[in-house]
Amino acid sequence: MVHGSLPEYPFAHAFHDRLSERRNDDAFLTRAWDDPATRVLVMRDGQLTTDSRPGTWQLATNLHHNELRFVAPAEAPVGERMLLGEVDGAVHFLVVAADASSRGAEAQLDEIRVGDGEPAGGRFSGLRQLATGLSDVQASLAAHAVALAGWHRTHPRCAVCGCATEVALAGALRRCPACSTQHFPRTDPAVIMLVIDDQGRCLLGHNSARSDGWFSTLAGFVEPGETPERAVAREVLEETGVVVGELSYAGSQPWPFPASLMLGYFARAASTSITVDGDEITAARWFSREELTRAVESGTVVLPTAISIAGALITSWYGGPLPANVLPG
Ligand SMILES: [Zn+2]
Repeated sequence: MVHGSLPEYPFAHAFHDRLSERRNDDAFLTRAWDDPATRVLVMRDGQLTTDSRPGTWQLATNLHHNELRFVAPAEAPVGERMLLGEVDGAVHFLVVAADASSRGAEAQLDEIRVGDGEPAGGRFSGLRQLATGLSDVQASLAAHAVALAGWHRTHPRCAVCGCATEVALAGALRRCPACSTQHFPRTDPAVIMLVIDDQGRCLLGHNSARSDGWFSTLAGFVEPGETPERAVAREVLEETGVVVGELSYAGSQPWPFPASLMLGYFARAASTSITVDGDEITAARWFSREELTRAVESGTVVLPTAISIAGALITSWYGGPLPANVLPG
């Protein structure tokens, strides 16, 4: 089964050098932090500092109108410091400022100032909102930052003995002081697949968690001890009753909401009869290109956004951009 390469989508490429060999080099890390040319990305309450004007991303799909805002180390707020890597000779760190839940009062957050002294409040944005407007380099840094910080935030304790763990390797590790277990940041593999039948129609499903009319590719997590190829077949069968045959790998997307790695496939249908699981997937339909065009134009079907590999898989099959898959997700 041959399909063209996927159209561009956020986080598809890694553009920064993660400097993994420097993570235990304290002299390097100290020197880098003392260098005013070092760039610091500030995160607060899961959001990143940005120079974007509110709402510009809605008009800027596929255009690089969003900018992360980096500050010099001396301007960074107090917080957990993590090494992101190097871009064009400049070392980049992430600083995670205390968030609303841990500090307990929104007013305190306004004390955090970045850059030219502007209050940080109002200049923080979520990665989903930023994604389509960032340059490839900034998207690469942002995906790393959000995924890494999200893992630290939710893994403060040792999974073996329950003691509080300590950050090590410039943020690439948490170590338990009691039992010495090392905990590395997790990424959860998931498969996402566009199933296509012998007539060239694609299978899209409606997820019960979504609003009416929203249809997308099927997807699911890879289970322990399972290959992604087997997970594709299992998920499609479980969710729609359709048996799949030949697979072709299409591409991947880090999806740090909170910790997924999406592995994209095209799958050939070996059967077409649909029986939805009624739980996660409450409706599924085969669409020809003409049927999908009419459904989208009439507003009866809404497709996933351009920021996801789901949108890229559908667009690749369709052969060009669809008007609805630029909606915010
Ligand atoms: Zn432990």
